[in-house]
Amino acid sequence: MNRRKYILLLIFFTFTFLLFAVDKDVSKASDVATFFDDIAKDLPKSIISKIELNKGEFFIDLKRVLKSEKEDSLILVDKKHLLPASFTPGKVVMLSELKHRTYKLDRYNIELSAIVLDSLQEMGTAAKKDGIILTVSCGYRPYAYQKKLFNNYAKEYGLANAKKFSAEPGMSQHQLGTTIDFGTITDADAKTPAGKWLFKNAYKFGWSLSYPRGMEKITGYNWECWHYRYIGIEASAFEKKWFQGIQQYMLEFIDKWKKSNIRL
Ligand SMILES: [Zn+2]
Repeated sequence: MNRRKYILLLIFFTFTFLLFAVDKDVSKASDVATFFDDIAKDLPKSIISKIELNKGEFFIDLKRVLKSEKEDSLILVDKKHLLPASFTPGKVVMLSELKHRTYKLDRYNIELSAIVLDSLQEMGTAAKKDGIILTVSCGYRPYAYQKKLFNNYAKEYGLANAKKFSAEPGMSQHQLGTTIDFGTITDADAKTPAGKWLFKNAYKFGWSLSYPRGMEKITGYNWECWHYRYIGIEASAFEKKWFQGIQQYMLEFIDKWKKSNIRL
C-alpha cells in the first residue's frame, strides 16, 4: 500500500512538473511573438523579415551581445531617452596622461571611459599600419559641461537652431564617456583619409557611427561623420549583421528587449 502511494505521488509530481515546464515554454514563445509584433511597427520591414527568417541565430547573437555589455555600453541615449544628471562613467582617464598612444589628441584635456582605451589603442595601431593617424578631438562631457555648452549655443543661435545640432543635457552620448569626435568635427572629415578609414573600419574595433547621413529622422540628429560611440566588438558586429549598421535601430531594440523582461 505504501509503495503504491509512493508511486502515485511520484507520478503526480512528475506530471505537475512536466505541465509547468511545458506551460513555461509556451508562454515564453508567445511573449517573444508579442514582443516582435510590437517592435515590428518601429523597425524597417527588411530588418524584421531577416530576423523572422533566422530567429534562432538572431537570439544566439543577441544573448552573446547582451552578455558582452560592459558597464552601460549599450544604453540608449537620445532625445527621448535621457541620462540623469547624476550619470557618470565608471572610471575616466585623461588621455594625455597615457604613454605610447597610437593616435593624436586635439587638446590636452580629453577624457574617456577606461573601458574604451584598449580598443582605441588597437584601432590607432591598425590605422597607422594603413598610413593614417587618427585624431581624437572630443571625448567625455559631463552633464554640467553639456548644459553650459548647450546654453551657450542657444544664446548665440537661438533655441530651435541649437536643438538641431547640439544635444541638450542628458541627451548626449558624450556623457557616457565612450564616445569620440574625431578629426576637425566638420563635414569635411567625411572626405579625409582618416574619416574614410574610420567609416570603413571602426566597427571592427567595436566603434559605431551614431548619426549616419540620411538617418536624421531616425536618430534625431544631423549627420555627424566624426562622432563614433564604442559599443564593443560583439555589438558592432551584431549591428552590422542584423540592423543594417544603424546603431539607433539596434539600441532601440535592445532597450525594448531589456524592458520586456523576456529571458533568453
Ligand atoms: Zn560628438
